[in-house]
Amino acid sequence: MKRRVIIVSMRLPVTVTVEHGRPTVRPSVGGLATGLRSVYAEDDGVWIGWPGRVEELDAAEERTLREHLAALHTVPVYLTAHETTVFYEGIANGVLWPVFHDRLDQLPLRVHGWDVYEQVNARFADTVARHYHPGDLIWVHDYQLLRVPAILRELLPEARIGFFLHIPFPNPEIFFALPSREWLLRGMLGADLIGFHTWRFRGHFTAAMRRLLHLQPEREEAMYEGRRIQLGVFPMGIDAAGYAERGASPRVLAEVARLRSDRDVRFLVGVDRLDYSKGIERRLLAFERLLQTHPEWSTRVRLVQIAVPSRAGVSAYRRLRERVDGLVGRINGAFGTPRWTPIHYMYRSVSDDLLVALYRAADVMVVTPVRDGMNLVAKEFAASRTDEDGVLVLSEFAGAAEELTDALLVNPYDVDGTAEAMHRALVMPREERHARMRALRRVVQTNDVARWVERFIGALAANGASEER
Ligand code: UDP
Repeated sequence: MKRRVIIVSMRLPVTVTVEHGRPTVRPSVGGLATGLRSVYAEDDGVWIGWPGRVEELDAAEERTLREHLAALHTVPVYLTAHETTVFYEGIANGVLWPVFHDRLDQLPLRVHGWDVYEQVNARFADTVARHYHPGDLIWVHDYQLLRVPAILRELLPEARIGFFLHIPFPNPEIFFALPSREWLLRGMLGADLIGFHTWRFRGHFTAAMRRLLHLQPEREEAMYEGRRIQLGVFPMGIDAAGYAERGASPRVLAEVARLRSDRDVRFLVGVDRLDYSKGIERRLLAFERLLQTHPEWSTRVRLVQIAVPSRAGVSAYRRLRERVDGLVGRINGAFGTPRWTPIHYMYRSVSDDLLVALYRAADVMVVTPVRDGMNLVAKEFAASRTDEDGVLVLSEFAGAAEELTDALLVNPYDVDGTAEAMHRALVMPREERHARMRALRRVVQTNDVARWVERFIGALAANGASEER
């Protein structure tokens, strides 16, 4: 029998705006929303999460909004303005995000607000408990909700609870910088199944369990407070068929032709949220280095860099934006000519068609995060390339590197080495490009998002059976 699934994540896969007192609901961006959209409304399931900042609504407007959301199988959890600042921007994005991405330098000098973190997590757990029927599977997502499994375990001792971490789990030496480390770890251990993108992140997690809680976890499971907890590796996939279809569509191919109208100019493409984990600054410096060490590329290569605005409420992100603006200006100023600008920089999000057109137009896709849980952009690029062409330059510090071994793997901290990889990608013989791209496509087609969901839910429903392939 198929079991109903309750998905719990920070953000609902919709964004709500209110104009003239009338709420409108539209799909929101981001890896998780994109990944789970294809499944969340099936089999009577519900998705519980925050719809984003919603201005004050009167009772009638609130009812209308709830109806709109219910029609989409979603249930809202609201945050106050104070909670948005302290829990979401302060703790989740200002403290947990940098620590889990190895960036202790980005930590504020004083961290406060764990009580608000608990309070918001408890509200999510309460909402789940209200919608729970015996037999349901509960799937909690990501670093904003690390305490939800433990709170739910108190409320619903018998429930099957899964937790998936979409970002890296850091080396314990780094994780231990968090004053609340034990409490966070115990939060996750409320689950029956804890999933990670890679073997390495799971290894960090079991090492933290050993050292902090003096537990003796096996590789794939642990006993904790009399319960058996499975520890699984589930590298997230994408809607590969959807990207292939869009990539081959006449609309997108027409856009590619417009982008590539100047046949003498080769394309490097980068697409990222503007986040310090994405390695954008070092990527720009590597591109500059390419122009210095291989002046033959002058006027013959262009880097198109999309930086999707993100977390502008967090000061580290505002400062990053200024640095990137400055670097782009400096490099363009130093190398540009009246007829050629080396970096085409766009600080905005782009339509799905333009995104895929850029994937298709790229001679080289540069994905060089200094740390990334998975990186879906790398997979979307490969999925879009039904022409089996294009080279992926990929950071070894992206979760995707464990699977996409036919990319040109680089150390993003090695700016000179990344520049050389860009050059190597630009001059790679056709045969090799095709062979590598075919191999990349096989991986993203096989382990697509549907299979990822199936594997996680399968393991959660299996009641303790091993999830390993
Ligand atoms: N993306 C988007 N709008 C854009 C550009 C990209 O929604 O203008 C999507 C992209 O297709 C991908 C996601 O944003 O699915 C980024 O996911 P990724 O795992 O690469 O990084 P994250 O932003 O989740 O850290």
